[in-house]
Amino acid sequence: MTDDEIPYSRQWVDEDDIAAVADALRSDWLTTGPRIEEFERSFARYVGAGEAVAVNSGTAALHAALAAAGVGPGDEVIVPAITFAATANAAVYLGARPVFADVDPRTLLVDPESVAAKINGRTKTIVAVDYAGQPADYDALRSIAAGRDLALVADACHALGASAGGRRVGTLADVSCFSFHAIKPITTGEGGMIATNDAKLAARMRAFRNHGIDRDHRQRDAEASWEYEMVELGNNYRLTDVQAALGLSQLSKADRFLARRRQIARRYDAAFATLPGVRPLETRAGVEHAHHLYVVRLQNRARAFRALRERGVRAAVHYPPVYRHPYYQQRFGCQRGLCPLAEAAYEEILSLPMFARLTDDEVERVIAAVGDTLTE
Ligand SMILES: *Cc1c(COP(=O)(O)O)cnc(C)c1O
Repeated sequence: MTDDEIPYSRQWVDEDDIAAVADALRSDWLTTGPRIEEFERSFARYVGAGEAVAVNSGTAALHAALAAAGVGPGDEVIVPAITFAATANAAVYLGARPVFADVDPRTLLVDPESVAAKINGRTKTIVAVDYAGQPADYDALRSIAAGRDLALVADACHALGASAGGRRVGTLADVSCFSFHAIKPITTGEGGMIATNDAKLAARMRAFRNHGIDRDHRQRDAEASWEYEMVELGNNYRLTDVQAALGLSQLSKADRFLARRRQIARRYDAAFATLPGVRPLETRAGVEHAHHLYVVRLQNRARAFRALRERGVRAAVHYPPVYRHPYYQQRFGCQRGLCPLAEAAYEEILSLPMFARLTDDEVERVIAAVGDTLTE
């Protein structure tokens, strides 16, 4: 990419973030140390959850959440057709089968009616995705899960700071998973977090990130004990203290990043309201959107993608239906036509540049370029 090209997303790391990382590197702790606990506490407070568990990716967060929910071989886990592959992969790691539910074409959020239709005796868990930064319809999903003893997991990797009915994402499902990948709402390079109000699930996930060991080295040190037991099979999914330092610094800016994303979304909304060929996704009533992605539907998506690229605007597509990937076709025999609304949406969606550092000039360049591609 050249200097005047506009990427669809990029991180925002400042000198104070760098200073926080340098401090951590000069301290006694490189991996699990005091900054992990501090990051977990600050994150839990930010989303309003009882507990937060830091892990080294959003993928690890999903794996830990499903493991804690008891997902295992023979189980089915319902996931939306349109999401990043990692959402479904987490079920596969545990020997379970992902079952794909269709999406609401207006929002690309999972359609609760499709979820309800896919439940059977093997269903263990429902995973909703807060696609593009908008909370899924947790009221409807909760009433489907209730009474059937199904855990409700949020893939909230897009949605840090979003809320529904005045409650932040992180409290809307039984367990909520976040990612701190470079271009997510805040970053630690790679990293993740799981939020929950359930102390038992939190303890299981803490063990899961540390080989399945019931106490970490800091707890043993505090108890003047060398003893530990591995109680189940876990992983090394630990975040480093160096990353937690960056995470704390980034978290302090989350509201500022969010405010800027909202400004950009309002400007795009206003501009595209007068361009009939461009249909932005809708926002549900009562929802505060985190605007991780700005997704529009267009008739000729392939042409628009290329025309934007020629004008220095790098759009992207999020995502093909997961079951269209060769792995899912081969391993699970997924066929075209499984989720028709998701497949139709996939032909038309384009994610325009959206990130907090995008300047007003760049936003206007994107809007002009989108206008050009429709009229040429
Ligand atoms: C980024 C992302 C993940 C995976 O997060 P990583 O930190 O990259 O492992 C999972 N689900 C969704 C919807 C994502 O956007």
